[in-house]
Amino acid sequence: MKKINPVRINDPLHLDTLAENTLLAATSFPELKREKANVIKAYDDYDANAGNVWNIPIPTISGKLLSGLLSHYDSPPESLNFLDRITKSSPEVCPMCGGFKPSTRDHILPKAQYQILAIFSKNLVPACDCNMKRNDAVKGDPATQARILHPYYDGIMSDRLLSCEITHKDNFRIFNLKIIYVNPAHPEIAAIKYHTKNVVIKSGVEGWLKGQLSKIKERPSNVIQTLPRKRHQSVAQVIDCINDCLDRNEELTGTPNNWLSILCHGILNSAGVVDWITDRHNATLVT
Ligand SMILES: [Zn+2]
Repeated sequence: MKKINPVRINDPLHLDTLAENTLLAATSFPELKREKANVIKAYDDYDANAGNVWNIPIPTISGKLLSGLLSHYDSPPESLNFLDRITKSSPEVCPMCGGFKPSTRDHILPKAQYQILAIFSKNLVPACDCNMKRNDAVKGDPATQARILHPYYDGIMSDRLLSCEITHKDNFRIFNLKIIYVNPAHPEIAAIKYHTKNVVIKSGVEGWLKGQLSKIKERPSNVIQTLPRKRHQSVAQVIDCINDCLDRNEELTGTPNNWLSILCHGILNSAGVVDWITDRHNATLVT
């Protein structure tokens, strides 16, 4: 998860160009020319309500224009060449799940349900394959207004929201690990939980974190790369190295909710794990 700035796109100008394109008679001409004001109203309402799915009114437009906008997303006319700029706007980390190198885009309000927003730049964020795994999840229990978080509008994505709890059996022969919430009493906890369950966990973060623990068992310095590979370390020195690793990754990715920082935070806050890592480090020094 990461709060990012949207790519600057002049959506009404792109709509103007599309609306005048007589070559699009099979999809959006002349419907877009006639109904453009309603589409722009949907964009304005989206922005005014910070992309919050519970609050955005959706105006009615013709069925032909709805499927036309969807078709323009799937096969973009040249005037929609900004879409690739959105895909490339967060190269280090997926703003939706905190995973690695997003190579596609996600519709925050899914295009299957909200066709009117199919080509609206602020409804499109860079994402990894969590996009497919999330499917059309967008809102949960109306009583709590649970919903997907929005990387352009939800400033809380800049805060540390997630950690992990590591437990073990037989002196770390078997691990268990689960994602936990840093502040279970957070005022936005319903949205944080909904987003985490439907995006972050579905993206496979827990499996990745467990895999890192297995690598730590072999040689901690391969994962906590701030640990000196050849030097004996005290528990206090290992804690410093893990904090340093956490801070570096937060700075590199621009978010405390990247997966390696979630791991470091969980290690520092799970009973006995730092002591175990210290023992493993000193037992596996590179000579
Ligand atoms: Zn992702």
